Amino acid sequence: MRYVSTRGRAPELGFADVLLAGLAIDGGLYVPESWPSLPAGVPGASYAERAAQVIAPFVGDDLDGATLLRLCREAYATFRHPAVVPLVQLGDRHFVQELFHGPTLAFKDVALQLVGRLFDHVLGVRGQRVTIVGATSGDTGSAAIDAVKACTNVDIVILFPLGRTSEVQRRQMTTVDSPNVRVVAVEGTFDDCQDLVKAMFTDVPFRERMSLSAVNSINWARVMAQVVYYVVATDLLRGPVTFSVPTGNFGNVLSGWIARQMGAPVEGFVIGSNSNDILARFVNDGDMSTAPVVPSLSPSMDIQVSSNFERLLFEMNGRDGGMTAEQLQRFRAVGRLDIEADQRAAYIDGVFRAASLDDTATLDVIASTYAETGMLLDPHSAVAVGAAALARGSTVVSLATAHPAKFPDAVEKATGVRPPLPPHLADLFDRPERFVVLSNDLAAIEHYVEHIR
Ligand SMILES: *Cc1c(COP(=O)(O)O)cnc(C)c1O
Repeated sequence: MRYVSTRGRAPELGFADVLLAGLAIDGGLYVPESWPSLPAGVPGASYAERAAQVIAPFVGDDLDGATLLRLCREAYATFRHPAVVPLVQLGDRHFVQELFHGPTLAFKDVALQLVGRLFDHVLGVRGQRVTIVGATSGDTGSAAIDAVKACTNVDIVILFPLGRTSEVQRRQMTTVDSPNVRVVAVEGTFDDCQDLVKAMFTDVPFRERMSLSAVNSINWARVMAQVVYYVVATDLLRGPVTFSVPTGNFGNVLSGWIARQMGAPVEGFVIGSNSNDILARFVNDGDMSTAPVVPSLSPSMDIQVSSNFERLLFEMNGRDGGMTAEQLQRFRAVGRLDIEADQRAAYIDGVFRAASLDDTATLDVIASTYAETGMLLDPHSAVAVGAAALARGSTVVSLATAHPAKFPDAVEKATGVRPPLPPHLADLFDRPERFVVLSNDLAAIEHYVEHIR
């Protein structure tokens, strides 16, 4: 399998190179040169077995089948539910797929637990070692740390804004006791942390000396790993299924679209947004224009520009990278993306619907779902369940992307119940923390990163 860039000006690469590269050198995102068809499922297969099957065509010859299956088994053995991503029935033809049984209680674990192991394996084969640097406002950092804490060929340094994450979020990062993990509290904001990471990547001698790498949400392997749970849901429900997806960077719902391209019986998608509703405005009114980000109860969806949308845009442009690059340049310049009517008709209408729920509506969904079913939803999952009303009459699967205990304040406000942390994290507040505090200063951060080994 070969991969091409959505901006058409980067060399074609195989899977292992795409995995390590992240972003293409023309600034584009890698996609497979064609969409493989879905391998038939084997009744009774485990999640890990089905994952290895679905992923195999994307990996091509870069990994043998036995290795891929072993890595999938190891990745999904870290989940605390035998089904890995269980489907729970919420009502008539309405199911919730719980994607939060991984080590850090958010759906990011589904992709990152596998991607960390893929990284370590490919680097080991090549005799290479990388340093992953990343900035986090809370959730992604802990998922990335947990994914690579056992890796032998990866060091990781995560920057977070001092005093601006929740205590659970901070402790999930700082209590990991592993020699290749470093956590830095920066005296600054999340934007400062992101700028520091960008500056480290732009410092080419430093980047090369340290073999810097990233595992952010544009990494193809993350999108690929997420295709699996859509397939598993349609295997079980036998389709046609509509998925309601709480959406931020568009990575999750894009994975669903890929499952549909591969032939999974997916009718369509409902995109759930909070008050940051650029995607809902686009799907409903054709208006893709940026607005300032407003904080909400579902912070992982507080996003202005959904970076993975570029991969769908590339398809909408008939896989013309030049046209895609031009369109994105215009978008950056004027803050508005214009799509032709025939592009909309072919790719959006009849496939994507969208709804946005503000914080009040989100709390209402948490309260009514608890009253009617006894299920506690976190605010992200509640956006999906609320948005699913648009698809009443179809079989709907709403994706639950975080454990309610990750957002206990919102859940308690809506229901009066404070969800406890699951047993494997119950002693989180008793574990010793390890992190350093550094000033918002590139030289200081680079000096630190350089001396971790
Ligand atoms: C990251 C995240 C999302 C958004 O997913 P995207 O792939 O960015 O659209 C939704 N919910 C939770 C809990 C998340 O962590």
